[in-house]
Amino acid sequence: MAYPLPVASLLAPFERRVLHPWMNRNVRTIPAPESVYPALLGYSRAPRLAYLHIPFCANHCLFCGFYRNKAGESVMGAYVDRLIEEIAQDGQREGIRNAPIQAVFFGGGTPSALSAQDLNRILKALHEHLPLAPDCEITIEGRVAGFDDEKIAACLEGGANRFSIGIQSFDTALRRRMGRKAAREEATNFLADLVARDRATVVCDLIYGLPLQTDEIWRSDVALCHDIGLDGVDLYCLSLHAGSPLALSIDKGALPQAADNATAARRYREGGELLEAAGWTRVSQAHWRRTPRERNIYNNATKTGADCLAYGAGAGGMLAGHRFMQESDKDNYEACVANGQKAISAMLAPPPHHRACGKVMEALENGALDLAGLDQLVEPGFSQALSPLTEHWSGQGLTEQRGSQLALTAHGRYWHNNIAAQLFALIGNYIDGPQTTTGNMPEGGHPPGIPRPVHPASKPQGHPHEHVT
Ligand code: SF4
Repeated sequence: MAYPLPVASLLAPFERRVLHPWMNRNVRTIPAPESVYPALLGYSRAPRLAYLHIPFCANHCLFCGFYRNKAGESVMGAYVDRLIEEIAQDGQREGIRNAPIQAVFFGGGTPSALSAQDLNRILKALHEHLPLAPDCEITIEGRVAGFDDEKIAACLEGGANRFSIGIQSFDTALRRRMGRKAAREEATNFLADLVARDRATVVCDLIYGLPLQTDEIWRSDVALCHDIGLDGVDLYCLSLHAGSPLALSIDKGALPQAADNATAARRYREGGELLEAAGWTRVSQAHWRRTPRERNIYNNATKTGADCLAYGAGAGGMLAGHRFMQESDKDNYEACVANGQKAISAMLAPPPHHRACGKVMEALENGALDLAGLDQLVEPGFSQALSPLTEHWSGQGLTEQRGSQLALTAHGRYWHNNIAAQLFALIGNYIDGPQTTTGNMPEGGHPPGIPRPVHPASKPQGHPHEHVT
C-alpha cells in the first residue's frame, strides 16, 4: 500500500544546508553493539572499506570542529601500539576475509602528524592482518606543515598510493587567519613535489565560503590546483560548527561573517566551471579529477553506504547497514583494546529503506536521478506522487528534466543534501506512512558512526566524511 506524500509543505526555497541527510530518519539504537559486531562481519558485503582515525593535530584550526588531542610523539606512539593491536584482533575474526578491502582511508585529526615509523608500521599491520585487495586505494590525509620527506617515504614504502592534503586555501593571509602555518609558496611547493615524485595520486581539499575569502582568491586557488598538476580536488562548502573557534571569532566580531548561500553556491558553480574548462571531470558532487589515476574509491563508496571497517578512537564505520561509532576518548579506547574488546560505543540499526536511499544518494552524487528507476527502487507510482516537488525543484533552478532523468544543475548540486533529505523522508512516508523522527543526531553536528570522510569544515566522522585536515 502506498501512502499520500506530504509534498505541499516542501514547496519552499531551501534556506539552510543539510549536512547529513540521513540524520532525521527513524533509527533504533543497538544494545551491546560490541557483541553484535562479529556477526555483522559475516553479513558484510563487497565493496568493503576501512577507515583509520588518527585523533591528533599540531594545533586547532580556526574553522574546525573535529580537533581532539594535541599531537605529541610519546602519546601518539602509545596510541599507534593499540591501533595496531586492534587491527590484529580484527584480523583474527571470522568473517573478516569474506570480502577484500577496496580502499583504506587514514583520516583525523592529522595522520601526517604521526612519525614516519608509526605511519609505516600501521601500513605494514594493515597488509599483514587485513584482506586488502591487490589494487587497494590507500589514502593518507595530511597537512603541509610537518609532512616531511621521511614521512612521505615511509608512507610510500608501506604501500600508500594516494595523498589527500588539506589546503583549504592557498592564500597566505587567509591561511594564517584560519590557523594554517605554511604560506602559499610552501603549500604549492609541497604539492608540486608530491606530484613530481610520480609515486601516488595527489589530491587536495579547498573550502569555499570562508570569511575574508574573495572571489579572486577563490578563482586563483582553483586555478592553482590545475597549474600544480594535481590528480584531483575536492571543493567543499564551509560548515560553521557551533562552538568552533571560527564561529566564536565571528560571534565576537573578530572576523566577518562567512559567505551567504547565494555567494557560496556561486563559488561552487564557478569553481566547477573553471576546472571543467581546463579539462577536469566531475566525479561526485564535490570532487573533480584531472587524471584517470584518481579513483576516489573511498569517498565515493562511503557516501553511498558501503560497508566500512573502523579502527581507532572516534572512528565511525558501517556494517550491513549498521552505522557504528568507536569510543572517542583516546584513553577509554586504548583500555578497551588492551582488554581485547572492540571499542564500539554506539551502533544504529539500518534506517528504513536504507538500500533504496543509498541508491538515491549515489544518483545525486553522480548528478542525475532516474525517475523510472526510482519507481523500481521504491514502489510504482512514487515518481508520479513526487511530481509537484520535482516541478518545484525545476522552478527553483535546482533540476532539469530530461526524459525520465532528473538532472541536478550546479545550483541543485550545491543543495543536493537537502534534496536527498526530502527524498529519504518521502520514500519512508510513501511506503510506511507518516513517521515521527527521532532527532537523535544534532542538526549541523557530526552524526555518530559515520565513516568520516568527511570533514572540511564540513567532512565526517571527525569530518561527513568530508575531511578537513
Ligand atoms: S582541520 Fe584537520 S588539522 Fe585542523 S584541527 Fe581540524 S582535524 Fe586538526
